[in-house]
Amino acid sequence: NQPPFPTDYCTVSATMLVETTTFLRRLIQDVRLAGGEFVIRDFKDQEELHTLPEPVIFNCTGLGSRSLFGDQGITPAKGQLVLLPPDPAVDYLTVGGGTGSLYMFSRNDYMILGGTFGLDDWSTEPDPKETERILKESQQFFAGVE
Ligand SMILES: Cc1cc2nc3c(=O)[nH]c(=O)nc-3n(C[C@H](O)[C@H](O)[C@H](O)COP(=O)(O)OP(=O)(O)OC[C@H]3O[C@@H](n4cnc5c(N)ncnc54)[C@H](O)[C@@H]3O)c2cc1C
Repeated sequence: NQPPFPTDYCTVSATMLVETTTFLRRLIQDVRLAGGEFVIRDFKDQEELHTLPEPVIFNCTGLGSRSLFGDQGITPAKGQLVLLPPDPAVDYLTVGGGTGSLYMFSRNDYMILGGTFGLDDWSTEPDPKETERILKESQQFFAGVE
């Protein structure tokens, strides 16, 4: 079978895609049903953490650990996506085929086109050049798909 993609090689495998919006919403619901509570607040420093009455604290502050715990070993990796309306007819995902990182995840809420991986990039602004590259390379990649 000749794949419709403009690549020399192509491998196909079965995989599982966890849809983050569905999964996280369900997770929040499960925590609440089990009696858990969400309190959103900002912690200035470790001292403020110690004022919590809870006996156990899990540190899941991501990049925040840098200032909160002086953890200089944690660095950002910037990722950029293009979100398109969903297409239920597309029941697969693709990875590869671009000059940079290129992938397509077909989800129920969006069709996700990616992506970028910028190690040590602190910017939170999308780069229009990357948006253009992702769109152009995706169009080329899917041009032969009927
Ligand atoms: C473009 C892109 C696409 C991705 N797609 C997927 C995907 O499809 N599936 C997937 O599984 N992963 C995906 N990831 C990875 C995923 O987003 C991360 O792995 C995940 O968010 C890490 O979760 P975390 O809870 O460890 O950290 P974070 O999500 O960074 O959460 C840390 C939290 O701590 C809080 N915080 C920090 N400092 C403080 C403070 N001083 N006081 C109070 N709160 C504080 C922050 O506000 C934040 O809410 C993607 C990442 C990128 C960049």
